[in-house]
Amino acid sequence: MESAEHNQNRVKIYGTAGSPLGYMIRDFLHRSDIPFEWVELRSDDDATGLAGVSGLLDRRLPVCVFPDGTRLECPTMRQILEKLGWFRDPSRTQYDVAIYGAGPAGLSAAVYAATEGLATVVVERWTVGGQAGSTSKIENYLGFPQGISGAELAQRAREQACRFGAELLIGREGVRGEFMPGKGVGYLADGTRIVARATICATGVAYRRLDLPGEDRLLGAGVYYGAGASEAALCRSTDEIFIVGGGNSAGQAAMHFSRAAGSVTMVVRGASLKETISQYLIDRIQSSPNIRVFTHSEVTALEGNRMLEAIFVTNRLTGQQQRFATRWLFVCIGGVPRTEWAEEVGIERDEAGYLITGPDLFQQFKPPAHWPLDRTPYYLETNVPGVFAAGDVRHGSVKRCASAVGEGAMAVAFVHRYLAGG
Ligand SMILES: Cc1cc2nc3c(=O)[nH]c(=O)nc-3n(C[C@H](O)[C@H](O)[C@H](O)COP(=O)(O)OP(=O)(O)OC[C@H]3O[C@@H](n4cnc5c(N)ncnc54)[C@H](O)[C@@H]3O)c2cc1C
Repeated sequence: MESAEHNQNRVKIYGTAGSPLGYMIRDFLHRSDIPFEWVELRSDDDATGLAGVSGLLDRRLPVCVFPDGTRLECPTMRQILEKLGWFRDPSRTQYDVAIYGAGPAGLSAAVYAATEGLATVVVERWTVGGQAGSTSKIENYLGFPQGISGAELAQRAREQACRFGAELLIGREGVRGEFMPGKGVGYLADGTRIVARATICATGVAYRRLDLPGEDRLLGAGVYYGAGASEAALCRSTDEIFIVGGGNSAGQAAMHFSRAAGSVTMVVRGASLKETISQYLIDRIQSSPNIRVFTHSEVTALEGNRMLEAIFVTNRLTGQQQRFATRWLFVCIGGVPRTEWAEEVGIERDEAGYLITGPDLFQQFKPPAHWPLDRTPYYLETNVPGVFAAGDVRHGSVKRCASAVGEGAMAVAFVHRYLAGG
């Protein structure tokens, strides 16, 4: 049983089921490894007695109460960041290296850059951890034989990077860049300008959507992207969970939810999980009595106004459609790189939008057009000198935590060479 003291150290969030802002706050705190308690308000009396508002429809919901008693009503993420002491402006007019993205690749680059004495800034649009931060357990990361939650791994890395002096700008999004020899300028969505001698893009991928009518409205209100690690604690033993996707992340999510929920259904387009999921996970899925797998299937419609009420699943072979009542749909169908900014500045991307680096830039043994230097691009360097890409955003990357971490470290080695004039 949890102690009263333990509970007092938690952020309490009072809100109603299906509140997208409530979900955003839970997701943010969970990924940031900040203890919290979600108190679901079910009646006007609850709303008045517990949250101190007039009723369930009061626009001040959700209400967050911090351990020191600070109360934030219907807060913006900026207010939450400020309260946590995580909101900051850049302290320098120029850095040695600016890193965009604080997933495994960006955090690793930050640790190596800062420990090696580079003036380092990291810009992250949400919070640390990236995709890894959304998973309840990473089991194949070296050195953690029992596995480690993505949120904990990310927090450890954040602490490590900060301890060595990297500046982390959390909740800030890079939207545009300008690059000239020896200098890059990144523009953030809030107008902040970051100047650095070298740039590492570690922005990974953003979740792929189902593109179904109603999806936007139900996002955070029954429809969730990713493995939903923050939500598993909220589901009940009678709940039926649906997970779209047949990859490792979907398999991990299925295992995680199967411990709490009544049943878990994986909706998979392919004929089996064999080609797409590691064997150890397939074995676990098959031996879990409350997980079922619908193959050759896809979710084709969503039902619900304020909250997801049902989904429709269509068998791709027979065309037969079935309706399933559920409040939980997790979409784990991979991601897409968001690199439109790169096109504007002439950074080469592949057809899917991944940034092309190093040897992949060569065509018929020739360096990329307009490459201005005598040397060839470094392994993780784009066709713009001094702009590097690491992790999932890079064309040909392996899409694993360890490889993202490795590329982050490698990118810093190339930054040193670049800054030394090579
Ligand atoms: C649910 C799930 C489970 C997984 N489990 C495992 C596992 O068990 N083992 C394993 O090896 N791999 C696993 N993976 C894969 C692994 O998490 C990824 O390969 C890894 O996170 C990639 O790291 P990254 O830093 O390149 O990118 P990401 O993790 O995608 O991080 C990119 C970061 O950049 C930020 N960002 C994006 N655009 C901007 C911008 N414009 N400005 C500022 N910031 C921006 C994002 O918010 C994000 O934090 C899993 C993935 C998922 C989704």
